[in-house]
Amino acid sequence: MKKYNFNAGPSILPREVIENTAKQILDFNGSGLSLMEISHRSKDFQSVMDETAALMKELLEIPEGYSIIFLGGGASLQFHQVPYNFLTKKAAYLNTGTWAKKALKEAKFFGDVVEVASSAAQNYNYVPKGWSVPEDCDYLHITTNNTIFGTEIRKDLDVNVPLISDMSSDILSRPVDVSKYICIYGGAQKNLSMAGVTFVILKDDQLGKTGREIPTMLDYRTHIEKGSMFNTPPVVPIYSALETLRWIKKNGGVAEMDKRAHQRADLLYSEIDRNKLFHGTVAEEDRSLMSICFVMNDEYQELEKPFYEFATERGMVGIKGHRSVGGFRASCYNAMPIEGVQALVNCMKDFEKMN
Ligand SMILES: *Cc1c(COP(=O)(O)O)cnc(C)c1O
Repeated sequence: MKKYNFNAGPSILPREVIENTAKQILDFNGSGLSLMEISHRSKDFQSVMDETAALMKELLEIPEGYSIIFLGGGASLQFHQVPYNFLTKKAAYLNTGTWAKKALKEAKFFGDVVEVASSAAQNYNYVPKGWSVPEDCDYLHITTNNTIFGTEIRKDLDVNVPLISDMSSDILSRPVDVSKYICIYGGAQKNLSMAGVTFVILKDDQLGKTGREIPTMLDYRTHIEKGSMFNTPPVVPIYSALETLRWIKKNGGVAEMDKRAHQRADLLYSEIDRNKLFHGTVAEEDRSLMSICFVMNDEYQELEKPFYEFATERGMVGIKGHRSVGGFRASCYNAMPIEGVQALVNCMKDFEKMN
């Protein structure tokens, strides 16, 4: 039976990305060696690194004056590394979910932190509006997609201080105006690659301004200078990121990814709104196109487990909601075909008829 992977992360990747990476793991560029055992300093891997960086720049239209680096440590290390490199005295954070809150917590090690707004009191089911950022903040940090609770800031905000964003779960799903940010980062395992690599896009002239001494490995400038080769980079995850970037380019780039994201989300949210068994969990205007959360209506609560089992038997994988929301979450990343969402919608329709 065809399986559709709705896992939140690590998550679905295009089949050809997995197959091409598997081939290179068996024999890298006909060298007779595995991608897993080659030197990261070999000419062939250098060209993988170069093409990966170049395609990120091309697809996201990253302007001159910015660098892109690939690191280990996940987005979670960035919660720490970002303030290490950018926070002199005071920074602002928009608290829109679990990940945003974790980022905010780490910044407190480096200075004053202003929480400009929070939707925590309503279980993060909307994105706060109408807040303002104190002028003397070094930056504002946002999390564009709230992977756990299912809200999204799907536009590039205009703010009065430098902007930094965690885009772990919506990178490359839409065109981004990179010039509005001084830093964009994310773990790759949602929309870009397998787990193990983190991308960081940096505005070069914003670095080195805190006056703080930064340990070599945590200083972004180290990795920019060494082209992400200061230490051994995660070779296989970078290769699979390259395959994903090639796939995105071949499929029409981020504008096409955006179009598909809207098509998938429209299909699923319309069914959530129509079906008598379910309702969505977040404010309509803030609905995420990537992380689609829904629960059983009160009178059908007892059908939660049966629906989960019904859908699982029909090939839907990973639709259980995060424990802090309950119900269901369908992660609809770039690689999710519309057929997968249609299959889930069919499950919802059939299950409604049965009940
Ligand atoms: C998954 C996720 C993270 C955590 O990423 P790690 O690479 O596991 O540290 C951080 N932020 C967001 C928005 C996420 O979705």
